[in-house]
Parts: sequence; C-alpha cells; structure tokens
Amino acid sequence: MAHSVTVNLYDNKSISVPTGLFINNEFVPSVDSIERINAINPATEQVICSVVAASAKDIDIAVAAARAAFKTTWGKNVTGFERARLINKLADLIERDAQELGNLESLNNGKPSRIARDFDIGDSIQCLRYYAGWADKITGQTIEVDNKSKLAFTRHDPIGVCGQIIPWNYPINMWAWKVAPALAVGCTIVMKPSELTPLTALKLSELVKEAGFPPGVVNTVPSLGPVGGAAISSHLDVDKVAFTGSTVTGRKILEAAAKSNLKKVSLELGGKSPHLVFESADLDQASSWAALGICYNSGQDCTAGSRVYVQDTVYENFLQLLITKVKAQVVGDGSDDKCGGGPVVSKGQYDRVWGYIESGKQEGAQLALGGVKRSTKGYYVDPTIFTNIRPYMTIVKEEIFGPVLSVGSFKTEDEAIALANDTNYGLGAGLHSNDANQCMRVSSALEAGTVWVNQYNILNNNVPFGGKKQSGIGRELGSYALEEYTSVKAVHWNFGEKLEWPL
Ligand code: NAD
Repeated sequence: MAHSVTVNLYDNKSISVPTGLFINNEFVPSVDSIERINAINPATEQVICSVVAASAKDIDIAVAAARAAFKTTWGKNVTGFERARLINKLADLIERDAQELGNLESLNNGKPSRIARDFDIGDSIQCLRYYAGWADKITGQTIEVDNKSKLAFTRHDPIGVCGQIIPWNYPINMWAWKVAPALAVGCTIVMKPSELTPLTALKLSELVKEAGFPPGVVNTVPSLGPVGGAAISSHLDVDKVAFTGSTVTGRKILEAAAKSNLKKVSLELGGKSPHLVFESADLDQASSWAALGICYNSGQDCTAGSRVYVQDTVYENFLQLLITKVKAQVVGDGSDDKCGGGPVVSKGQYDRVWGYIESGKQEGAQLALGGVKRSTKGYYVDPTIFTNIRPYMTIVKEEIFGPVLSVGSFKTEDEAIALANDTNYGLGAGLHSNDANQCMRVSSALEAGTVWVNQYNILNNNVPFGGKKQSGIGRELGSYALEEYTSVKAVHWNFGEKLEWPL
C-alpha cells in the first residue's frame, strides 16, 4: 500500500499527505498490524484519509531507532550550534509551508485555517526559533568545594529517548512545544499524535527529514492511546514522557511510568479556569477577554476561562457586554477567513459537550445564550452562556472542553478568591481590575500555574506554562522546559587532596 494520499485543500490545491509511520526518516507500514486510523473533517463529518496505526511492536522499533540515533548521531554526538542550525531550518520550512499546513490543520481539527496559520503555526515557528537559541547555551555550574584541591561541576545532559504524547486541540502547536526543547538539548523523540488529528504531525515529519535531521532523531507514530500511548508510557527504554491531555490519561501515564522504569514524566492536564471581573475593571476590555477565554479554539483549550465571576455591582452591565461580544464571533467553516471559530473536533467531543449543556439545563442553570443545536452537518456547538449557576453543578465543576461558559457573581474579594480556588484544577486564572494593589493581592492568592491580569489566554514562548493541583506536573516553555529534558550530572574533581587511609 502506498504511504501517501492526495488531500484536497480549500483553495482548490491538493497536497500529498504521508500515511505511514515515520521511523528512521522513512514512512513505513506497521510490522504486525493492519489497523488504520480515519482522519475526519469535523465540518463535513467525512473521512479525509486513513493512516497507519502503530502497534506496540512498532513503538519498540521507533524507540530502538531513537536510541540508536541518540547514541550515534544526536545526543552528545552533535554540537549545540548544529542542533540550532537544524531547528532553525525546520522553522524556516514550516514558515514556507504555513498556508498548506494551516489548511491541513483546519481540515482535520476544524479550527479556521486563518487561525491555524497566523496563531498556531506562527507561534510554533517562534517556539522552534526560541529553542534553537538555547541549543548552544545549555550550561551547568562550576561549584567551589575547596579552593586548594577540589571543585565540582554540573553537566546538563540530554535525558535520552523521549516519548511525547499530544492531544488534538492544537496538533501543530503541541508538536512544536514538545519537539523544540527536546531537540535543543539533544534528546531523540518518539512522537504520538492524537488519533483524532494525525495528519499535520505526519506532514511535519517530512519537513524534519528535509531539514536534514539524522534518521531516528524524530519518529512519528500515530496510534490509539491505549495501544501506542500505553506502550510508550510503559517502555523500559524510554527515558522521559511528556504528555498533554486529560487528567484521567495523565494519571495512567504516571502509573505506567512508576510500574516500568520510573521514567521522568511531565504532564499538562485539564483545567476549569476562573476569570474574575472586579468593579473597577474596564468592563469593555474585560468582556472582550472573557469572550476570547471561552470562544478561542471553540473552548477546546486547557486554559479556557470557563467560569467567569463578576462583582455584583457591575454584573448586569458586564453580562450584556459579554453576550454582545460572544455573539460577534463567527463560527463556521474553516476555509472562511471571516470565521473565528469552527466545529469541535469529533463526534465524541460533540456528544460530550452537548451532554454538559443538557446537564446545565437539568440542574437549573439559566441559558443566557446558545444551547440550541444546529440542524446542518458538522460538529458545531455555538457559544453557550449559563447564568444562575451553583458550585455543585456539573457545568461548574467539570472541564467541558467546549464553548460553554458559566457566569456567576460575588460581593467581596475574599468571596471571589474562594470561588476561583474551589476546584481540583489549577492551570490558568484571570482577573480584571484597575486597582493595582488588588491585582497583586488576588494574583498571589489564585491557585494556578498561570495568572493573567487584565488579559487572558496569552502565552509566550519565553514564559513558563504548566499546572498546579491536578492540572499537571512540570513546566513547558521558557528556560524551565529545558529542565524537563535534561538530567543533571555532578562531577566531583580532586586536584590535590591525598586520602589518608584507613580513616
Ligand atoms: P486524552 O487524554 O484521552 O488524549 C490525549 C492523548 O493521550 C492522545 O494522544 C491519546 O491517544 C493519548 N492517550 C489516550 N489514552 C492513553 C493511555 N492509556 N496511555 C497513553 N496515552 C493515551 O484526551 P481525549 O480523549 O482526546 O479528550 C478527552 C478530554 O481530555 C477532553 O474533553 C478534555 O477535557 C481533555 N483534554 C485536555 C487537553 C489539554 O490540553 N489539557 C487536550 C485534549 C483533551
């Protein structure tokens, strides 16, 4: 069977998309399975193409390829300057192909092509360039032990073979966040994209080869989570797993790591992020950020600001502004540049989100916007706002991962903080206020890995990102991510002390 198919993009152009497993810089079939994964267009509900699904044996082969490369052509066998050159080359190739990658991302994920190209891909290119900048600056410390005879120094060695398991909400972006720091420090990679969105990771693999990375440095193995993901997590020759996805799966990965070789694990998990609006805030701006917080990526965002709490004195005014802002976003086909949002990713996600909307209605929350299904094709969920919410309601407690917002009110700052922190998650949180002291007090009290003040959902490649509580372990982005992919070795050096033996 051929290892590529022709896929028609929006602009009457077509591209060839690889459909095999990418191991040792070649697209290959599975060694022992005929399983395939259908990639579906969520706007039309039609199959785009199918790709090979890796078995556990295929994962073994990919890990062996990554190990061989680590020992021979990558790892400590290549200078930081060369790693930087190759990562920059990859960034240039992605920039060259940004339009068609954006279209392909949109076809498979549903997000508008314009958003994929300008935001997801733009950020991914910058992420690669940011970490290319680090590649020749991975340094340890020199530690004085005794001036006359001894010193110690540390080396930040690449940790080795990294399994990277990524979700479907930002397929290209999550790929870049994982691949860039790992390559910068000298790790090799077995990448498992989500079974819902395997296409762009395979297309990016072509660019890895074109950029000139040696075989085995990056391997891409689309697979079902309980098959390929589980095989990576429990593999004895994988040194580290980096994961983004649900808290349920994160827990399984941590268990598999504990039961196998105690590999290092970093987890970016779910959230139920609060967004606080105080009475001194610029309400026009705050409502725009709150709309972005729930509408961006159709709410399929681990930091979606899905619980907005507004001070009672400005509640009505803010709610009307928010409804107007949310209504202004056009949700439709990914080929249309007017659209800011698309369908949710899959039938499973569609059913899940509508299940939450039904639970909101049944548990007594009040619909202020949306909550009505479209009668046309596509997994569309129009932005939905609930008011009259209570802390025990399912829509207030659970991560929905769709454009469904709960809006409540508070009287005092203490009450706002208590409501915000009343969750097992701790990924993102936002606050809007024009009182600088209040901004400082509240941002300090919020239990989250990221707090946004007078903005929301803005990330930067040089600023760390990650969760507290059940939202994760470890940090991505910034210099902090380098620690996730390195192992510190302390070398103790004696240049004078004579050992008097026996002691
Ligand atoms: P998921 O956690 O099941 O999938 C994420 C990745 O993990 C995929 O690549 C999947 O194949 C893999 N995986 C699944 N089971 C595995 C296992 N046993 N071992 C190793 N890897 C495994 O998420 P999902 O089912 O795609 O989405 C369900 C919910 O997860 C969403 O509704 C949302 O709440 C949450 N989610 C969060 C994020 C995030 O960025 N934090 C991203 C996607 C999904």
